[in-house]
Amino acid sequence: MIELFVGGHLFHPAALEWSHKKCSNGCCYCFANINNEERFSSDIKSPIRQLYKGKTVTHTDKLLNMNHTICISNRTDPFSRENYRDTLALATHLVTKKNSIFIQTKTGPGIQKFCDIYGDRKDVVFYITMTTINPEISKSIEPSAPLPDERLAAAKQLYDRGYMVVIALNPLVESWMSKNDISLLTNKLKDIGILHICVEMLDMSPARLKKLSAKKRSMLGDIILSDAQSNKNTKNRMYVREVVDILIDMGMIVAKKGMPFKTPFFDDVAVKLNVTYPVIQTFINHCMNTMKSPSLIKYAEYESVIAQGDIFNIVDNGNNIRSYLLRAGFPSWLENKDKVHSHKDLLRITWNDKRVRTSIQRHCLFRVAQRGGKNLLDDNGNIQLYYDGKPYLGGKGVVEL
Ligand code: SF4
Repeated sequence: MIELFVGGHLFHPAALEWSHKKCSNGCCYCFANINNEERFSSDIKSPIRQLYKGKTVTHTDKLLNMNHTICISNRTDPFSRENYRDTLALATHLVTKKNSIFIQTKTGPGIQKFCDIYGDRKDVVFYITMTTINPEISKSIEPSAPLPDERLAAAKQLYDRGYMVVIALNPLVESWMSKNDISLLTNKLKDIGILHICVEMLDMSPARLKKLSAKKRSMLGDIILSDAQSNKNTKNRMYVREVVDILIDMGMIVAKKGMPFKTPFFDDVAVKLNVTYPVIQTFINHCMNTMKSPSLIKYAEYESVIAQGDIFNIVDNGNNIRSYLLRAGFPSWLENKDKVHSHKDLLRITWNDKRVRTSIQRHCLFRVAQRGGKNLLDDNGNIQLYYDGKPYLGGKGVVEL
């Protein structure tokens, strides 16, 4: 099934996602495999039927018909040996629709054939993961994925064919990719012409660690495990920050969740795609461009910047928008399960509730404004945020005014 891409909400330009069955690349850090090694999606006929459905019944149908971008895929690799045939079969149908495609892959068989199917259409963004440039490390942590040089060669081919290529250092781990390797890789990317780069931390929470098999633990290694077990990934977090600075200094266009910098990264992605979902980074850029002195920010301003596009005009009782809250923050879902009928409702909840993973309250550039120890509310009962352009990396995320 093509589904709402709830995991990417406000972080990803695609509002829809399609995943295959289990991925065969076998990466030791794969959150999807850790969560459910034996996961199965519906067969390939299901998304094809969705594309040709005559009636608009579900919320997903509406977004499909509004030509929203589809991410393929956040939970499997479309070009792993197990999946590429289905990807190519689906591509012959997708290409007849106006929806742009955001491909997340380590490359593999069929990727150039996919481009052949798309012909002159270039509204496909390729997000190619590079966790190391060392082939031996790659074999040990991603045993069935293409080797780093093969991924780079595929990235060059795609770029030369006119596609936007994003390189994803995701997850970025120092023992897999040193600063020296970062420089080597960046220089190679610049030689190709690729400037867009995404950086993310290893997402290995204690809860995820508990589910990890002995084999995967040994693939990850003791240093990484002990940092993850500290519950804060302190060393990894610091390393990721340092690398973001290095990449920016080297002239790359960087995206990193929660980073306190302006970037045109998502604007550049949106230019390539047909219809995209907004991202929090647009609001960060807005604040940095327009707020030159300390400011109190009301929800109305956030909504005016983020709620762009027809998707925010849909009011859909009985829809599945609230499934986002169910997956992103259970308490929020319980309290709001009868109140989410639009993407504006969702936006307001994620503004007001820090427990939701994508709440802007979690961003280091903002703190909740308080007076006398109580949240300062606007006329509609929404919290207000304080912004002074400085990142606050510790504390409770509140400021007394
Ligand atoms: S390629 Fe992606 S989906 Fe497949 S195992 Fe690796 S991390 Fe998981």
